[in-house]
Amino acid sequence: MIAFLALAAAAAMQPEFCGQTPYGTGAGQTKPFICSRAQEDGGPSLNWPSKKATFKINTKGTEDIPSESDLDAGVSANLEFTTVRQGFSTWTALSCTDFQFTDGGLTASERVGFDFRRLDENENIVIFQNSWAHDPLVIGLTTATFNSQTGEIFDADIELNDEQYDFTNKNTNVQTDLLNTVVHEVGHFLGFDHTDKPGSTLPVACASTATMSKTSTLGETQKRELATTDQLGMCFVYPTGKPIQHCNPPSTTPAPPPIIRQIGSSLEDGCAQTSPATVWPLALLAVVHMLRRRRL
Ligand SMILES: [Zn+2]
Repeated sequence: MIAFLALAAAAAMQPEFCGQTPYGTGAGQTKPFICSRAQEDGGPSLNWPSKKATFKINTKGTEDIPSESDLDAGVSANLEFTTVRQGFSTWTALSCTDFQFTDGGLTASERVGFDFRRLDENENIVIFQNSWAHDPLVIGLTTATFNSQTGEIFDADIELNDEQYDFTNKNTNVQTDLLNTVVHEVGHFLGFDHTDKPGSTLPVACASTATMSKTSTLGETQKRELATTDQLGMCFVYPTGKPIQHCNPPSTTPAPPPIIRQIGSSLEDGCAQTSPATVWPLALLAVVHMLRRRRL
């Protein structure tokens, strides 16, 4: 029912990419970013079928981040929601892409995954889980539902581990930085994989410093801003004024009925969340990317 898979690596490119071997996005070239793929042994890369998606945030939020009251205005702002929204807009602020996220507001829905019996009720949600059902080392987890023939995503949900981690949104006393975490998870939401996944041929200097790098340390804020490799991926797959481009093409084999299955990418954003003084060696905490597959 559930399998953990390490995806095959794609490669990278662009002249002098991170000062190493030329990488490029042309045919036969190695790309300087890594797209998630539909199957363990390959298959089409994942992408939204049109350059748009709507997300909603579960209304319970997190108690880690105190609300900021504006007594004059008579409102109380839930700052974690602001940070989550910023995590999405970070990816669409690039001029090279015209992908658009729609902020659908808050939702009471806690449904992660996709219910084919209730098509109208499915939402792409971001939810802080204070009872975490997954590996406690995993900070964030994005579950995508997609067509395995075409790689088209039609639902994605982000869970944040509010049980084991103390999310913060400041520049001082940073614990598990919320923006750092959300920007990474939104990368998965868009169809990108870890730059430093097993088998990655991206230059280490690039792969390990990217937003889509699979680990982070306590107090890290580096992933708040997209690295070159992250930007190149977004610009390639969702280019402004042009059709979507596939890292790996949809299947052209004549058509068995499309197999729809649900995939949960365990997107541990920073399993290396530990202070330097703790006994866990960083390497042991570099949990690999996992893919949770459920056949519907
Ligand atoms: Zn991840």
